[in-house]
Amino acid sequence: MTAKSIDIAIIGGGIAGASVGAFLADFGVRVHLFEMESSLAYHTTGRSAALLTPHYGPDSMKAFAAIGRSFLETPPAQAQGPLVEPRDLLTVIDSDQTLTVERPPKSVWWDESTCLEKVSFLRKGKFLGGVVDKDVASIDVHALHSCYIRTITGKGGVIHQNARIDRLNLNPSGIWEIHVNGETYQTPTVCNAAGAWGDEVARTAGVTPVGLVPKKRTVVVLDSNQFADVNFDIEIFVVVEPNYVYFQNFGVGKLMLSAADQTPSIPCDAQPDEMDMAVAISRFEQVTNLKVTRIDHSWAGLRTFAPDCNPIIGWEPYREGFFWLVGQGGYGVFSSPGIGLYAASLLIDREIPKAYAESPFDFSSLSPDRFRLS
Ligand SMILES: Cc1cc2nc3c(=O)[nH]c(=O)nc-3n(C[C@H](O)[C@H](O)[C@H](O)COP(=O)(O)OP(=O)(O)OC[C@H]3O[C@@H](n4cnc5c(N)ncnc54)[C@H](O)[C@@H]3O)c2cc1C
Repeated sequence: MTAKSIDIAIIGGGIAGASVGAFLADFGVRVHLFEMESSLAYHTTGRSAALLTPHYGPDSMKAFAAIGRSFLETPPAQAQGPLVEPRDLLTVIDSDQTLTVERPPKSVWWDESTCLEKVSFLRKGKFLGGVVDKDVASIDVHALHSCYIRTITGKGGVIHQNARIDRLNLNPSGIWEIHVNGETYQTPTVCNAAGAWGDEVARTAGVTPVGLVPKKRTVVVLDSNQFADVNFDIEIFVVVEPNYVYFQNFGVGKLMLSAADQTPSIPCDAQPDEMDMAVAISRFEQVTNLKVTRIDHSWAGLRTFAPDCNPIIGWEPYREGFFWLVGQGGYGVFSSPGIGLYAASLLIDREIPKAYAESPFDFSSLSPDRFRLS
């Protein structure tokens, strides 16, 4: 069978692979994206809390958020509608604590009565009040991911589903051969956007892993039907410090909550952990008037981190044509426009847009060289 020659092969159909593919498509590259599952965004991307929190995470992610924000707020036509909606993020402070909470630039203070007015089921007498970050938004992750995919296919790119890459050979002339589902593809460039499987894909390509750690987080969804007179249709994302639990509305009459657990895991189809569900509910009950009797449903996802908790974006120094795009941790959705454009520029050796050069953050520090050349 003759091999098909392709420009760039992207491995992984989550938000990382889709976003870099979309920016490459905008630059005129016809990408082929390979996803092992039958549906795209099946793993971490489809399991997030869907927030744009520009003041959250390492400086690298804050810098990507700042650059990519205009894309989210004024998206291209392929988005077919808005991608973000403003959402206040309230961090309530337990009255037993003298904890100081960092005040983001656009924040205000709500006293206890304002907190109770906005979130009526918080426990009275439990909080001093809370800091409200007014610079946060919720993201329509499905719409964002679909926008990227439409951009790829609209420019002639190809999406392969049920296409697990488990053989990657670099031939002596510097061309990668990919064998999948009975076909062979040849390409000078492989982009590893395989999320929790990033190190596995590297091994497949004969590349030394970088030490990615997938960390499982469990989310519980409650239905307000089990309580008398409780309104879960709040327009606020609530974080409770210091005994950490967060919650937000999750569709009509539903609330999602998590104890923000992060348990190291192997790459897998993550399943909710009973103990983490119990911790989330117990913490929720301590800060509200509610006694939970029933869980509507639950899920878990893997937030994957590099050893220094910054993303890894750049060429592998010891293997020709192998590009890393992994380690987005808990910030991969909101950072995706900023990361996608940056990675696409590196991949085709295009001048990095001015916004990156003008940022106080040094994006070149995200190259895998930092794990190789010390
Ligand atoms: C509970 C939770 C809350 C979160 N909240 C937020 C939030 O509020 N805001 C935010 O920005 N981020 C959040 N995140 C993080 C965000 O979801 C991730 O950073 C992001 O989705 C990672 O995207 P990805 O494309 O790298 O990974 P994935 O979505 O996992 O995509 C990787 C893909 O690669 C595929 N793959 C792997 N190996 C192969 C192979 N060999 N061949 C073919 N395909 C392969 C997998 O099937 C998978 O689909 C949250 C995550 C969790 C779990």
